[in-house]
Amino acid sequence: SRRNILICGGGNGAHCIAAIASSTQPEADVNVLTLFADEAERWRESSQKAPLTATRSYQDGSAYTFEAHPKIITKDPSLVVPHANIIFIVVPAFTHQQYIEAIAPHVKDSSIIVGLPARFGFEFQIQRSMGQNAERCAIASFETLPWVCRIEEFGVSIRIMGTKDMVIASILKGSRYEKDSLNIFNEIQTIFGESPKIKLLSNYLSKPLVSPDFIHPAILYAKWKDWDGEAVAEKPLFYQGVDHKAAQYLNDLSEEMISTAREIARQQSGVDTKDVVPLIDWYKNHYSDQLVDDSSLMRALQTNKAYDGLVHPMKETSDGKFVPDFAYRYLSEDVPFGMAVQKGIAELAGVKTPVMDEVLTWAQEKIGKEYIIGSKLTGKNVPETLVPQNYDIANIGDLFKH
Ligand code: NAD
Repeated sequence: SRRNILICGGGNGAHCIAAIASSTQPEADVNVLTLFADEAERWRESSQKAPLTATRSYQDGSAYTFEAHPKIITKDPSLVVPHANIIFIVVPAFTHQQYIEAIAPHVKDSSIIVGLPARFGFEFQIQRSMGQNAERCAIASFETLPWVCRIEEFGVSIRIMGTKDMVIASILKGSRYEKDSLNIFNEIQTIFGESPKIKLLSNYLSKPLVSPDFIHPAILYAKWKDWDGEAVAEKPLFYQGVDHKAAQYLNDLSEEMISTAREIARQQSGVDTKDVVPLIDWYKNHYSDQLVDDSSLMRALQTNKAYDGLVHPMKETSDGKFVPDFAYRYLSEDVPFGMAVQKGIAELAGVKTPVMDEVLTWAQEKIGKEYIIGSKLTGKNVPETLVPQNYDIANIGDLFKH
């Protein structure tokens, strides 16, 4: 039977992968499910007039235009989910739950559900909504959307301005999913085409442990923990402003994650945590040609060309000065959906994380939340986070019971 690809979402990323999948898989059916407002209707109407046009530009300055013909564009999951072999969920993370609940009753056995991108916790959201049926599926989680893309005109044209060379993903297979991980990997890679190249992590816990989810909170902490409350004249540089003290926090946090990985490997034989490397190595892997000086973590952050000129998130005061904007996503997202999850995994492993506790205690106060009390994740706002403890997981063994 023909390959059936379902794209969930109606934003930039959804347009982009709809176009790419149509061009790499001309034989397949590509369908779209968008639940938001009247997007399905609007996209369907424009597709009846003309195909979706994608313009993809490359680093050498060349560009290539192609057309895509999504077959069914709908807001009704029962029309498209039951036929899908592979389901891409390509929406901002705050709408993941809505999409997962909508597709859950209709997902067929042996399908692959892809979070593009997905935070750690996406796996648990799916397992909770699908129950036993999740055991017959595979879940792939991507670290980021590998294309830089913007809709030019909704349902009509999409611009793909950049493609990452490499993108990291992890796969969690249900206990009754039959194919092996390499198969899943190949399936997704063929849909992506030549690039990005997918790099598969050896297990799904490595992604949260090795991702620098703590980097924004820790740099903010180092900069503002002793702040006297006086507005400053200029917005301070964010990464270029990393000093020895900030770099020390980052190295310590990275060490705490490595200790956690080591302890998980000790408790759970057969689990390979080799992907959980020191933060400096993560930078070398991700930004190899952009680090002017990679002799230390501090120098790597200060000289990463990709970070040039980035400043601390600041609010302007009435007299034209600046104060830190702690409501920015660097804390409001990176703490509950990133750092708290890292803490949660360390706690399950029984690893002490004094530095993480110190940064979390400061950060949660800045956003008016309570996640940890002392060194334990028992604060009243824990249910709003993606920590594994929220999903009936009580120890490291439970993380691998599926
Ligand atoms: P987007 O901003 O285009 O997504 C908007 C879409 O999300 C809407 O069209 C709608 O379908 C859905 N949506 C928005 N609000 C909703 C609501 N209240 N209820 C239900 N659905 C709603 O997002 P994107 O650019 O496609 O990015 C998807 C993810 O990829 C994001 O997490 C983003 O951070 C990440 N990302 C995007 C890019 C890029 O270049 N576009 C690059 C890297 C990472």
